[in-house]
Amino acid sequence: MPPVTTPTPGRDAPVKVHGGRHSGEHWNEAMEQGAAVAKTIAGTLTPYPRLPWSWSDQHGVTIQICGRPELGTEYEVHGDPAACDASVVFRRRDKVVAVVAMNRPAEFRALRQLALHGDRPDP
Ligand SMILES: Cc1cc2nc3c(=O)[nH]c(=O)nc-3n(C[C@H](O)[C@H](O)[C@H](O)COP(=O)(O)OP(=O)(O)OC[C@H]3O[C@@H](n4cnc5c(N)ncnc54)[C@H](O)[C@@H]3O)c2cc1C
Repeated sequence: MPPVTTPTPGRDAPVKVHGGRHSGEHWNEAMEQGAAVAKTIAGTLTPYPRLPWSWSDQHGVTIQICGRPELGTEYEVHGDPAACDASVVFRRRDKVVAVVAMNRPAEFRALRQLALHGDRPDP
């Protein structure tokens, strides 16, 4: 078998969706990267080009983040951040590069698809 490059779970994995490298020290990334490593070791080369994403419950607020907000040059807010009921879409050159949501899991799931594919959200 030729040598393969696999990510070390939770450590500085390449992000093919928006470029660069990302240290994803979150539960879901540890699980998904671990699965990619295991499949590769078992013989099915499984790169990890996924969009970084994570969630956490903090003081009754479910926070979900995907992509790389630091790449965004513009952002738009949907909802009411003061009420902890909002999502923020970060764009760069018209492409969605990140989403941060508070207590909006369904909207987050839809926007995450846009970040994965780099599309514009509907107004
Ligand atoms: C306080 C806290 C809150 C967090 N909250 C969130 C959150 O809200 N959302 C989120 O997505 N992520 C959260 N995280 C991060 C998340 O817990 C970690 O990213 C994830 O657990 C990493 O999983 P892992 O399997 O890579 O490592 P770990 O969960 O650290 O597991 C590594 C295991 O290997 C064992 N081990 C280490 N060295 C050896 C050795 N030499 N021999 C044998 N065994 C060894 C350890 O004992 C451990 O059981 C939080 C972390 C902390 C500390």
